[in-house]
Amino acid sequence: MFEYAPAPESRDVVDIQPSYGLFIDGEFADGTGKSFKTINPASEEVLAEVATASEEDVDRAVQAARKAFGTWSAMPGSERAKYLFRIARIIQERSRELAVLESLDNGKPIRESRDVDLPLVAAHFFYYAGWADKLGYAGYGANPRPLGVAGQVIPWNFPLLMLAWKIAPALACGNTVVLKPAETTPLTALLFAEICRQADLPPGVVNIVTGAGETGAALVNHPDVNKVAFTGSTEVGRQIARSVAGSGKKVTLELGGKAANIVFEDAALDQAVEGIVNGIFFNQGHVCCAGSRLLVQESIATELLDSLKRRLGTLRLGDPLDKNTDIGAINSAAQLAKIRELSDAGELEGADRWSPACSLPDKGFWFPPTIFTGVAQSHRIAREEVFGPVLSVLTFRTPAEAVEKANNTPFGLSAGVWTEKGSRILWVASKLRAGVVWANTFNKFDPTSPFGGYKESGYGREGGRHGLEAYLDV
Ligand code: NAD
Ligand code: MN
Repeated sequence: MFEYAPAPESRDVVDIQPSYGLFIDGEFADGTGKSFKTINPASEEVLAEVATASEEDVDRAVQAARKAFGTWSAMPGSERAKYLFRIARIIQERSRELAVLESLDNGKPIRESRDVDLPLVAAHFFYYAGWADKLGYAGYGANPRPLGVAGQVIPWNFPLLMLAWKIAPALACGNTVVLKPAETTPLTALLFAEICRQADLPPGVVNIVTGAGETGAALVNHPDVNKVAFTGSTEVGRQIARSVAGSGKKVTLELGGKAANIVFEDAALDQAVEGIVNGIFFNQGHVCCAGSRLLVQESIATELLDSLKRRLGTLRLGDPLDKNTDIGAINSAAQLAKIRELSDAGELEGADRWSPACSLPDKGFWFPPTIFTGVAQSHRIAREEVFGPVLSVLTFRTPAEAVEKANNTPFGLSAGVWTEKGSRILWVASKLRAGVVWANTFNKFDPTSPFGGYKESGYGREGGRHGLEAYLDV
């Protein structure tokens, strides 16, 4: 492997304050509760102290959103669009600052936050800005109405992108929002709050409350919230579904996944190897739609695995702010413990574990890219979501066997198919019980394309025209 000189992105472009309050009614205000620290998972350095929103703070935020709903929902769509376009342009202008802050707080490589997350965040706001004055043509009636106040709770793996997925369609449809970012990654949402002020967004249209699960629960259970949007674990999703049942709140849940990435013997192998790497090692595998189960046709399994291992030997793990870095830090000590526990279970259950030679930094949370072969469908690493850089490899002989194994999971968020034959792509895709099926590619996102799950991966769709439905009274 070539020696690369370090090429760190400067962190001077971002100004991190020592402490942050809550963003309510267009102002930053102290919380009435305690506070917590957010750290850089690559160094364990404390980045800032952030307020924990109490039930009372959440109530103030919901009231602010309720008050703003009247004027925001009555505004012509073409006027709301101007604010969304303005926000999208400011995101582009400040994208370097946002990307550096995202990498610092989350641990993801700057190459990804800069080239994937931020362009998609801006694209999402541009896309839904375009819908704001065309809602009558979206297929939900001539004059579809917004729902009211949306309570939105998001995870830490794509902090700003998940914020965009939630806030852009909600605002375009005329709703106002209270959003809670994840407790390990609150900083880009707070910078987004500043961007709302810069865009002169009317006070109360967007409110940001920080905190952990209790704050999230206070938000989704608040009686004056009309719509709940949650992305996170299946376990918490289930809890939320139970607690809002019968309340009349509209709910969308985007939960976990255990996607099959299926490689047939006629596939272009070098491209498939790149797709497998992108499928499971992108964002340290902290991706709900990650291709965490590789299903490879038996006749090419040895050849494919040899190339895959060679390719893994070239991945660079280390400083997320280094522009050469492919694999950054695991987001938290808790997530690292979960990845270790499931990987140890894989070994104990008899699968073969492999990682390339790779030295891990002394400080921070790290896990090397890992492959398990000889995995049986009953193994925990084949059934449970690891949410880390761990690939389970299974083999199959016939297309029917591939489909059966791919669908043998409680999840159904995404899948991948690699083959030269177009007819096989269509046949397999029609049989897979997964919300998104990628053909000869993986982890491709676009604001125009709906995303969401089957079975325990949740319900409702985000993105595209379909994503409007979740925020309209239809
Ligand atoms: P998590 O469910 O613990 O947390 C997600 C968010 O919910 C956080 O903001 C957290 O503070 C909040 N929360 C926790 N308990 C809550 C409660 N009782 N009520 C309300 N809110 C509560 O999940 P996580 O560990 O932060 O994220 C990883 C999980 O998210 C993985 O399982 C992954 O598959 C899933 N995920 C899914 C998608 C998707 O689009 N389907 C996207 C990203 C992540
Ligand atoms: Mn952090």
